[in-house]
Amino acid sequence: MDFFSRQRTVPDWHQPLIEAQSALVLGVGGIGCTVARELCRLGVGEVVLVDNDVVSVSNLNRQVLYSGGDVGRRKVVAAIEALDRDNLRTRVSGVDCDAVKEWGRVVRLARNSTVVFNCIDYGEYFDTAVMSLCVCLGVPYITASSYGHTAIAECYPPGDLPGSGPCWVCNNAPAKKDVIEAVTPDKVAQLETVEFLPQDVYMPSNQEVGSSVLSCTLAATLTVGAWLNALHGYTTPHWTSCDFAMFQLFSYRSESNNQCPICQKAPRYAPLLVDIYFGTDLVAMTPVGGAVLPYSPTAITNPATQSHVEKAKCRLESVYRDGDDKCVYLPAVPAAQLEYNQPADNVPLPHPLSTPMVKTKDGPQLVIRSGGRSVIIPLYEGCFRLKGCGNYVDAEGMRYTHPGFPLIKIETKDNGYEIRGCCFEHTGLNEQYMSQKVGELLSEHGIIVGNKPMGLWRYEITEDTIPTIPKLCGVFETLGERRVSSHLLPGLEALVSQFFPSVTEGEVWCLFPPERRGGEEIIPTWSACCTGANKSSPIDMGPVKLIESEPSSSPPEGIPPSFMAPWIQGAFSLRQALAREDTLTLASLLALVYQRVGWEMGTVKRSLENHRINWGYFFDHNPFEPHCNAHPNNYIVLPPGQPSLLAPVDFDFSFEEGGFFSPYSGSTDKSLFDSWLGSEAVEMERAVAGETANTGLQMTMTQNDMSAAHRGLCWGFRDTLLLGYRAGYGGEETVTIPENIRPCVDSVVKMALLLTHLANT
Ligand SMILES: [Zn+2]
Repeated sequence: MDFFSRQRTVPDWHQPLIEAQSALVLGVGGIGCTVARELCRLGVGEVVLVDNDVVSVSNLNRQVLYSGGDVGRRKVVAAIEALDRDNLRTRVSGVDCDAVKEWGRVVRLARNSTVVFNCIDYGEYFDTAVMSLCVCLGVPYITASSYGHTAIAECYPPGDLPGSGPCWVCNNAPAKKDVIEAVTPDKVAQLETVEFLPQDVYMPSNQEVGSSVLSCTLAATLTVGAWLNALHGYTTPHWTSCDFAMFQLFSYRSESNNQCPICQKAPRYAPLLVDIYFGTDLVAMTPVGGAVLPYSPTAITNPATQSHVEKAKCRLESVYRDGDDKCVYLPAVPAAQLEYNQPADNVPLPHPLSTPMVKTKDGPQLVIRSGGRSVIIPLYEGCFRLKGCGNYVDAEGMRYTHPGFPLIKIETKDNGYEIRGCCFEHTGLNEQYMSQKVGELLSEHGIIVGNKPMGLWRYEITEDTIPTIPKLCGVFETLGERRVSSHLLPGLEALVSQFFPSVTEGEVWCLFPPERRGGEEIIPTWSACCTGANKSSPIDMGPVKLIESEPSSSPPEGIPPSFMAPWIQGAFSLRQALAREDTLTLASLLALVYQRVGWEMGTVKRSLENHRINWGYFFDHNPFEPHCNAHPNNYIVLPPGQPSLLAPVDFDFSFEEGGFFSPYSGSTDKSLFDSWLGSEAVEMERAVAGETANTGLQMTMTQNDMSAAHRGLCWGFRDTLLLGYRAGYGGEETVTIPENIRPCVDSVVKMALLLTHLANT
């Protein structure tokens, strides 16, 4: 029994996407009645109605959910009854409340919705408040109206980035600025009432110009259609009017207004963008005792005097715990201790970052889980990274540790221990200082760093394992959390299978020179073309011709409902671009992404070397295994709208030549510095080529049931990544993304991340 078999066959129709939607319909009058009925007939997952009125005789000409027997009844009650007769699968519910007086309830309902239909005729200030709420939550704002013979439908879907698409207020801002100021997106979701909003006085009411079932139904149908279009990725007019006296249809797309009081206060990231680019796995935090050391660009210096070197040298020896035989090792970065000076212009960190917190089992602050000792805190003004906020793990068999800085035995040392879950004074200062410094150096290449320093917390906690060793946490504003090795590359490899489902071994094998065709498999990039002897040249997938299919706009099986729309919209935009751009193919597009990603990684490494900065390659307590921070997983993937695709992070073990000392001789040693820079470059190139030794990361394509042809194809793209890396590291050419291709590149990156998310859940 498939109610929707007739609409499933409509081209580019995604019934599962429609069924994943939850619609809030404000007002079940002339337009709201038809909107709600159509949403039910379409099979939308959930419809929630809000109204505070009773059915009157004059409603019955156009409010199609009510009949004579309903006069005097509550509209919400009568509408739910009527919808249940029409209903196929939708969960319908209603709230009988005054949306103006009880705004807080509207906010809570909107938080659980994927679209808001504003069908309440209260006036432009109320419309502004609803629009603002939609901007705050990153959901489409849909509205409609009818005047005499005219039906008007309006649709304002959220852009990928706040402000990238116009909102209703952009071109309709009401006059009273102080009133609008009270309902901007940063405030509107905190209000419990919006009774202070003036009602419209001058707009013609439908009592004067009249309204019929024709104009109301037409407006409702147009507006539901506009929303459906936008949901599927079509470019939809913001404003459509239909006059059935003249039989004229008129529509246009409006322009964003960079003075708009609503768009300009949009949150830094819409909630869906946070899910895709930062993560969805939550963990709790609790405030604890401690001090805040705020950052300013002049707060941390590198005096590199002999006494600063001596301070650093102490860490080459273990640090002993008082009255115990345990020896505790701290990371021994071979560079002079940096110095912190409390800045005079002390700008406090935004709440809740103004108080130290640690990860706990329960706690007032829910944050996004990141690495073992890190979290991401999504706030209105952006996302913030805490690095060193506790090692609490709630996985099976792990001890619940509070306050979360456990001593862990290291196998390579007798009685040796490390402290986990925090950063230390020297690594904390290093990371703040070097993040700022590297950011300045990279700006000339149009590349930014992923973590902007904001300060440090110094914990003062009662159950401290070793109080004599200060435990700190770095606080940063961060631009992303998805990594190149663990998220982007596995996702791109999964996309290769999606994009070229029927590619054959014959087709793939002939792309490679004979020495790469090792029997049943293509020889991997890292063993074929990496630094060293016995190497062949990497191939460039850019000019390669393959039998291509179009990217399927059907989302892969099992994708979470909230990720369906970004997938479908991404695939749709790619198909449009392939039809529009003569020279663009899926192979050339993927190759461009790989090449650019490689180029950015190479450019960062080149720039660090040129400025005599070691990212974090050195030997400390373990003479057999170097620290190495130069690998693809220390690049985060940026959300769209940034100049580069990636941004490097993780400078806690970085150091400059000035301040470097040899841990063996204890004095400056240029040749050792050069040698470690060189080793770092070798490790980096090996990791880019797919060798996993220094990152501990598996290539997903060796784990799943990918065909030999697809694996070969992936090694081809990996070759292209290496070529891009060498171009960037060689500093000779710039791999640029043409402006008309950039949206396609963003779609590819986003779809790759969605596939990785699918694989990980
Ligand atoms: Zn606007």
